[in-house]
Amino acid sequence: MKKIDKLSQWLKGAVKGGDAPKASSPKPKAQHPKPQQQKKTGHQNQKRSHKKKPGSHSPKKKTAAPAQKKSQMHNNVLRIIPIGGLEEVGKNCMIIEYERDIVIIDMGFQFPEDEMFGVDYVIPDIQYLVQRRKRIRAILITHGHLDHVGALPYVMEDLGFPVIYGSKLSLGLCKKQLQERNLLKQSTLKEVNNKDTYTFGKIKVDFFRVNHSIPDSMGMAIRTPEGTMVHTGDFKFDFTPADGIEADIGKMSAIGKRGVNIMFSDSTNAMKPGHTMSERVVGENLRRAIERVEGRIIIACFASLIGRIQQILEFAHEHNRKVFVSGGSMVRNVKMAQELGFLKPPRGVLKDINEVNNFPDNQVLVITTGSQGEPMAALSRMATASHRQLKIRKGDTVVLSASPIIGNESAVAFLMDGLSRLGANIVHNRIMDVHTSGHGQQEDLKMMMALIKPDNLVPIHGNHFMRKAHAGLGPKVGILEKNVHMMDNGNVIELRKGKVTFKHEDVGVRYVVIDGLGQGDLGSVVQKEREAMAKNGVVNIVLKMKKGKMVGKPVVTTHGFVYKKELEKIEADIVKKAVDAVNKLHAKDSRARAHDYENVVRGAVSGLILKRLDRRPLVAPTVLHV
Ligand SMILES: [Zn+2]
Ligand SMILES: [Zn+2]
Repeated sequence: MKKIDKLSQWLKGAVKGGDAPKASSPKPKAQHPKPQQQKKTGHQNQKRSHKKKPGSHSPKKKTAAPAQKKSQMHNNVLRIIPIGGLEEVGKNCMIIEYERDIVIIDMGFQFPEDEMFGVDYVIPDIQYLVQRRKRIRAILITHGHLDHVGALPYVMEDLGFPVIYGSKLSLGLCKKQLQERNLLKQSTLKEVNNKDTYTFGKIKVDFFRVNHSIPDSMGMAIRTPEGTMVHTGDFKFDFTPADGIEADIGKMSAIGKRGVNIMFSDSTNAMKPGHTMSERVVGENLRRAIERVEGRIIIACFASLIGRIQQILEFAHEHNRKVFVSGGSMVRNVKMAQELGFLKPPRGVLKDINEVNNFPDNQVLVITTGSQGEPMAALSRMATASHRQLKIRKGDTVVLSASPIIGNESAVAFLMDGLSRLGANIVHNRIMDVHTSGHGQQEDLKMMMALIKPDNLVPIHGNHFMRKAHAGLGPKVGILEKNVHMMDNGNVIELRKGKVTFKHEDVGVRYVVIDGLGQGDLGSVVQKEREAMAKNGVVNIVLKMKKGKMVGKPVVTTHGFVYKKELEKIEADIVKKAVDAVNKLHAKDSRARAHDYENVVRGAVSGLILKRLDRRPLVAPTVLHV
């Protein structure tokens, strides 16, 4: 995925119908697209049909173009536009606009939903930003998780390489992302701390530390002459965090005392009552698990859980075990966290995975990726006996220090089954608390509201139902019900003299997907074909032609279409239909091209199959000239 296709070209109509372009052409110099180009993109805004949001605040009439005009007319207003993370868990991104200055908070991606066949990631739709790219002053990063930084490599060029601001570890992870796409040289990254104030025009930003499942996570207070907003980032409250670094509770309270007009807060765990369990409790349970076991121990967790990995390294050391790291992202993260000082392994505890078989079982502890059952990850390879260094056998204990993310349950069950068959004993969250979330539950969310004391609340990060649960908590801690706002991606909130106005305006966000080398939007031909193939299979029809006449009979082959018996009933009719279509076209236009024949055959055969079998496979006719 080295080449990144330019969204700007796409906006200029270089890519028709949102199809993935084959290769990128030279980068045009950064320039404002002309007004008529903005208009052009306006009607391209398309949402997938099942994404229709009943009761949402987004009338589709208004587009990005008038929005800009308006903001230039009334400059003394703070505009806040979340363009990702409000209709999903993932692709978090928010635009802050004041006078001529724009700062962006986070630039994450989302792993695709089930029906997005073959799509690698979904990224925020940055067309609003591309049109205003000269005004972008900064991208502020809350923390290094991919749903907050993963889209950076795909947008940096189109945004003209704005400076990225973030904490040390967050920048370390951004760097890794940019490096992989050869974009590090052109990028500027600036480390922030929780003491200084950062100024972008009249926008002033103060960062505060929060607890989360990755160290060095930040929330931020953004002050402008029109009022103050707080963005929590992902957070929970943990008084005994694994990394020992406390959240800036005092600073949050001070920010609250100075007055906050509006807060945007993490909703990921808003459905769960109580407080999120401390990472220390997980640590103690892992320690107990390590103590009890005689044989080899394999612990799977997310590679970004640096604090938990630190605890595991210490427990291993206490119990005279060596730690072997397995899995690409785990190896890279452990190395980087060590270099940046976030991971301090006791001396001699880390060993190369290639040496794992040189140590007695009771001295082996392996930390691995793959807790979500990802088929290519190290733990899956162990479960299918295809891991190069490690063969699972009786006496091994595998600890899944993670909960399956919604949608991954069956992959995790498959994984556990494989490990179990090979003889491993499996410890997971339903047996023992060996995992805790990085996101605050209801009491954590209330505590944040109590500290920040915002006049207005906008729940962010999560699907509508999660954010709704969060919204319900506001009035319980004194936020007026009318001041709790449910926004959708692309909606606009304005802050003027401390007063919040919900604009009935939508900047229009499309589904922008990253798919191998290409970038396109959902609803494209490629996506539709994949969907048809996945749901109803493929019907190939090969027609041999010579000088406009058919030679022999068309040959029909199918994949994943219907059972043989059913096919036999319809095959002759498919052939007949194809022949008829070809003859009809030939009579009408003796100079018709291969492409035209393919089209009529596709139409005729698709119609027949729909009528007879009520199915819509991908019908793919091919004309061969002989
Ligand atoms: Zn996170
Ligand atoms: Zn997140």
